[in-house]
Amino acid sequence: MNPGKTRVVIAGGGTAGWLTAYSLAKRLGTQIEITLVESDLIGTVGVGEATIPTIKSFHSLMEIDEREFMAATQATFKLGIWFDNWANIGDSYIHSFGVIGQGSWMAEFHEYWLELNAQGLGGNLEDYCLEWKAAKLGKFATHAGKTGLNYAYHLNATAYAQFLRGKSESLGVRRVEGKIATVKLSPETGNIESLELEGGTSVSGDFFVDCTGFRGLLIGEVLGVGYEDWGHWLAADRAWAVQTENTQAPPPYTRAIAHPIGWQWRIPLQHRTGNGIVYSSRFCSDDEARAVLVKNLTGPTITEPRMLKFRTGRRQQPWQRNCVALGLAAGFLEPLESTSIHLITTALVRLMRLFPFAGDCEQQAERFNTESRFEWEEVRDFIILHYKQIRRDDSPMWNHYRSMEVPHNLTHRIEIFRKNGYVWPDKVNLFRIDSWLQVMMGQGVFPERHHGAARIPGAASLQETLGQIRARVANNLAQLPDHQTFIDRYCPIPRDAA
Ligand SMILES: Cc1cc2nc3c(=O)[nH]c(=O)nc-3n(C[C@H](O)[C@H](O)[C@H](O)COP(=O)(O)OP(=O)(O)OC[C@H]3O[C@@H](n4cnc5c(N)ncnc54)[C@H](O)[C@@H]3O)c2cc1C
Repeated sequence: MNPGKTRVVIAGGGTAGWLTAYSLAKRLGTQIEITLVESDLIGTVGVGEATIPTIKSFHSLMEIDEREFMAATQATFKLGIWFDNWANIGDSYIHSFGVIGQGSWMAEFHEYWLELNAQGLGGNLEDYCLEWKAAKLGKFATHAGKTGLNYAYHLNATAYAQFLRGKSESLGVRRVEGKIATVKLSPETGNIESLELEGGTSVSGDFFVDCTGFRGLLIGEVLGVGYEDWGHWLAADRAWAVQTENTQAPPPYTRAIAHPIGWQWRIPLQHRTGNGIVYSSRFCSDDEARAVLVKNLTGPTITEPRMLKFRTGRRQQPWQRNCVALGLAAGFLEPLESTSIHLITTALVRLMRLFPFAGDCEQQAERFNTESRFEWEEVRDFIILHYKQIRRDDSPMWNHYRSMEVPHNLTHRIEIFRKNGYVWPDKVNLFRIDSWLQVMMGQGVFPERHHGAARIPGAASLQETLGQIRARVANNLAQLPDHQTFIDRYCPIPRDAA
């Protein structure tokens, strides 16, 4: 490799490509030189508009100003996901990003609540969580109470990539427009040497980042890294996406509505709503899925419905030789819990920590791949939970999911919760106790027993403590403005862009 600055070449300019360009330039820009190649003809996937709270920490690491970013991407705030018709038709629940109540080192809060609930005194679990209540009532402020709210964003994917591109270019990232025709490998090492574009331009580098989307041009087609298919657990392989006009003020949550043939997303931005339906071609035709989506839209369409095909799973070794795959080139878990952008950002942090300044990268690659595998499997199991723990039996698709075998770790989780009420966070600390709890209970798994520690304080003391938590949540909730009111004063779309 170059003894001076390491030459990094990023193939692809979607969300993954520009996030990579910006963060590497921002944090390693004095040590590396970055070129990004993208093709206007191929374009980007153009979806990926809901996020989870980790994006906030990533933005703060990368010094992205929240108000500037939100105004530029027509973003709204997200306090969780509102699920309709998942366990049973007509049911709904929220997976909020908040912490529910306050437990002890021995037992979680929900176990104390279950104890009081058994005596008919616990109230609703949501009364102990500000984010949950605020989502339901359409309220929001970035700061509330002592700790503030835990939130994420809904953003315009195309505008987000443009926003990051502007920032990257101002940090010196070179953008080359053109279609990659071939990739040149070193005959001695098998490493990538350069990207050869149609028209004859050659872009050479020391280290390559494959952000070419589902195709995985460098990692899959050129370096031959295989794809681990998870279609037996996550059968969805297609989506229709369409944008509609807003018909109401944007709520601070994503909506995930289950239908007999798949599930529909509704992602509210300041100026429009992103909609889509996710389905499996094994259980439903494209025409049928399109019709279900169109029938369930709430506003006039702005775009024509567009179909996207995908394969759930992950790249076996996302880092191979001198190339790492990020974004859709590294895999896709389907959008149910909006985890893709998160997986890009954690992979970027991992890459920066393991960055191969010295040239040789075999050991770093092994470590990167091991950590990625852990992370993806944990996220995968959380998503499978939603499908597995379904009660509806109104279609072949739901019958398939209800009766499928799932990874042992997940079965163990569900069973220990069902019998004892015990929950623990995932290994990578992404979905914490409250996430597992809300989804399991939302989908109808209710514990038969709970920890005996919940009986130790006695009913009167428990009632008093829980009453105080409820009062605190209610008090903080009362201070919150409507989501729209907060957006209007905090991060409105500039007049000329609206
Ligand atoms: C239906 C659906 C819904 C989703 N919803 C969410 C969500 O709510 N939240 C979330 O976090 N994620 C979501 N995702 C995932 C999210 O869209 C992606 O993680 C994100 O957009 C990153 O995509 P990308 O940059 O990897 O790929 P792309 O956007 O496909 O970009 C690929 C880039 O590579 C370039 N390229 C490809 N081939 C060549 C070539 N030969 N020469 C030159 N350039 C080339 C293209 O021009 C483009 O710039 C969703 C995905 C799908 C399919």
